[in-house]
Amino acid sequence: MSNTQQSFYVFLRQSLVLSPRLEYSDDVLTKDAGECVICLEELLQGDTIARLPCLCIYHKSCIDSWFEVNRSCPEHPAD
Ligand SMILES: [Zn+2]
Ligand SMILES: [Zn+2]
Repeated sequence: MSNTQQSFYVFLRQSLVLSPRLEYSDDVLTKDAGECVICLEELLQGDTIARLPCLCIYHKSCIDSWFEVNRSCPEHPAD
């Protein structure tokens, strides 16, 4: 795990503010889809992902953690 990822998870643990979260649909990827900007790992075929209304996709486990402290898409914070 990189330092960036480690500080991200420390940040998550220290920030236990729960807020209403964006709705998303979960799905299983049928083809590789580039990088998940939350964990910086590749989104690979067969991974369980979350598809947001803005059409961004992330690992479902990543966006679940993200939504524990953020309300909006990591790439569309103004939405
Ligand atoms: Zn991820
Ligand atoms: Zn987005």
